[in-house]
This record gives sequence, structure tokens and C-alpha cells, in this order.
Amino acid sequence: MKEVWVFIEQEDGRIHPVSFELLGVGKRLADDLSGICVGILLGHQVSSLVDEVFSFGADKVYLIEHEVLSYYRHIPYAKALSFLAKKYGPEILLLGATPLGRDLAGGVATLLETGLTADVTELEIDKETGNLLMTRPAYGGNIMATIICPNHRPQMATVRPRIFPMPERKPGRRGELIVERVDLYEEEAGVRRIGFLPKEKTVNLEYAEVIVAGGKGLGGKEGFEKLRELARLLGGEIGASRLAVEAGWISYDHQVGQTGKTVRPKVYLAFGISGAIQHRAGMQNSDLIIAINSDPKAPIFNIADLGIIGDWKILCDALIEAIKRHKGN
Ligand SMILES: Cc1cc2nc3c(=O)[nH]c(=O)nc-3n(C[C@H](O)[C@H](O)[C@H](O)COP(=O)(O)OP(=O)(O)OC[C@H]3O[C@@H](n4cnc5c(N)ncnc54)[C@H](O)[C@@H]3O)c2cc1C
Repeated sequence: MKEVWVFIEQEDGRIHPVSFELLGVGKRLADDLSGICVGILLGHQVSSLVDEVFSFGADKVYLIEHEVLSYYRHIPYAKALSFLAKKYGPEILLLGATPLGRDLAGGVATLLETGLTADVTELEIDKETGNLLMTRPAYGGNIMATIICPNHRPQMATVRPRIFPMPERKPGRRGELIVERVDLYEEEAGVRRIGFLPKEKTVNLEYAEVIVAGGKGLGGKEGFEKLRELARLLGGEIGASRLAVEAGWISYDHQVGQTGKTVRPKVYLAFGISGAIQHRAGMQNSDLIIAINSDPKAPIFNIADLGIIGDWKILCDALIEAIKRHKGN
């Protein structure tokens, strides 16, 4: 039975949502291979998370618990994951393209002597060969390249958060749990954490339900102040194009697109953004795209559900006014 593995990224006992998104796609790939979807859970005292992994689609979970895995370090995590892969021979191994996932994936691919495709945006099974077709932007986003790994297993890929939809959670869904053991030693870990100072996370773009985004068309830094007021009224976050970030009008954490974040909000409002392919790559899966642009030929209108031709400032002011009036009532 072929196994499609998803590395379940957890920190301090909280699973990163990208792991659930990957269980959704892992399940689809496993069905296409007549195989099973498997969650790989590594950590210390994390067995309470197993049910959550089943509820999002895993048919089986391999669990390794060890004190040395109590927080992420490359060497013990890579050792534990590659130990499991060597023992059970998965067909496919998927990881989130998060800082942790990116760090782990490269090392594990090297230990397993297999290939790794980073930042994949589409995953399909080739019906003739059974190989995994891993598609990602190439040449600055101007073409999509489909990469295969025909001679080595597992076929490995990292996927950014929000590329795939969140699967339905089915509480009470069960699967097979395999508890494994691996010898890990603190002295081998390479680094030791003496403290942890979390960076204050001010922007939660990937999982925002409403995003009010601005581009070069805003004309200056002050434009984002107005967008902020609108975002506050809508309970949303601020997004930006790369040109707005490069102009120094807003920080990089807000950048949406190929070299920024991938988002999937319920509503994406694009003010003064032309809709270049590299920007669209990060937001085209939004449920409802509303574009406001003075140029009727702007490419953003090709993907917008609702397009408004006009000056962004007039429309933004009108929206703020209307929402305030509505809230007042
Ligand atoms: C390798 C690579 C990676 C990239 N990664 C990213 C990325 O991650 N994210 C990203 O966004 N870009 C990225 N880019 C850049 C991308 O190609 C575009 O240059 C960028 O998205 C354009 O930003 P913009 O739409 O704000 O600016 P512009 O393309 O200059 O568009 C401004 C728009 O504002 C409109 N406008 C002007 N005045 C007004 C007004 N008063 N009211 C309403 N509309 C107005 C104009 O009609 C125009 O359509 C990347 C490029 C490369 C080569």
C-alpha cells in the first residue's frame, strides 16, 4: 500500500494550519494512488495531537516522542524523520514551506538521497506513470514548471501556507497509530535553546478573512493610513504589492505574491494594484476579489469578481463613509 506522508509541524503543542491543508491534498493524492495518507508527528508529549491529525484526513499516524524533540532543532528532527522514511519507504513526503519546514526538508532530502521541489503550487498524480507532478513558478513567475522525481523515493515537496484549501475537520474520525522509537542524544543536537524571545507578530496575513491591499497606485505612504482605517472597520489586515513595499511605504510582512505571502481571504480588496502575475500568484485563490483601478486595461480586472474603474481614494473614502453610516445604524 503506497503511503503519502505529511509532516505535521507543531510547536509548543500547536499544529501549524499548513499541515492540515497538506493532509487535505495528501488524502487526494493517496486516493489517486489507491494508497493511504499518513501524518508524521514528532515531538515531546505530543500524543494528544494524534486525534486532531486523524480528524483532518490521516489514515495512519507515525508518532515519535522524545525529550530531545521538545523544540525544533534540525539534527534530531532530520534524524527522526529520515529514520521513519528509510524504514517505511513512503511514496511522497510533503512539508509546509514555513521556516521550520524549509529547514527540515532540505536536510531530509539529502539524508534520503532524493529530490525536493520547493514552493509547489499544484500537485497531481500522473495517471500513466504514477509519478507526482510538482508544479511551481519558474523564471520569475513567467512560466509554470512541472517537476518530476522519477528515480528516487520519496518524492518530496514543500508547499506554502494557503496554497491548498483547509479540508473539512471530522471529529471522531479514527486511524491507525504506530508509535516508533529512535535513539536521539542531546549531545548530538548541535544547538541548545537557552531562551526564546518571540517576535511580536503584528501581521496575520495568511489567515486573514479580509485583506485591504494597496499598490503603487496609492501614490505614497499616506495612502496606507486610509487603507488602515478601512481595514479596521472591516476587521481585516493590510496587504501590499511589492512595488509599494520597495517604495518603503509599508513593511515586507505585508507583501502579497510570489516573493511575499500567499493568501486566501474571503474578501481581497485591491486598491491601485495592476495585477502583475507575481502579485496574482499570491492572491488569486481569494474567495471574492474586488479591484479598484483607474486603468480599465489593468490585468487585475481579468481575475476580479468585481471591478471598479476609478480613483482609489474616492472609492476608499466612500466605502469608509458607507460602513460608518451602516455601523451607526
Ligand atoms: C521575481 C519577481 C518576483 C516578484 N514578486 C512580487 C510579489 O511577491 N508581489 C508583488 O506584488 N509583485 C512582485 N513582483 C513585481 C511585479 O512584477 C510588479 O512589478 C508589481 O506587482 C507591481 O506593483 P503595483 O501593482 O503596485 O504597481 P504598478 O504595476 O505600477 O501598478 C499600479 C497600478 O495603480 C493604478 N493606479 C494609478 N493611480 C491610481 C489611482 N489614483 N487610483 C486607482 N488606481 C491607480 C495604475 O493604473 C496601475 O494599474 C515580482 C517581480 C519579479 C520579477
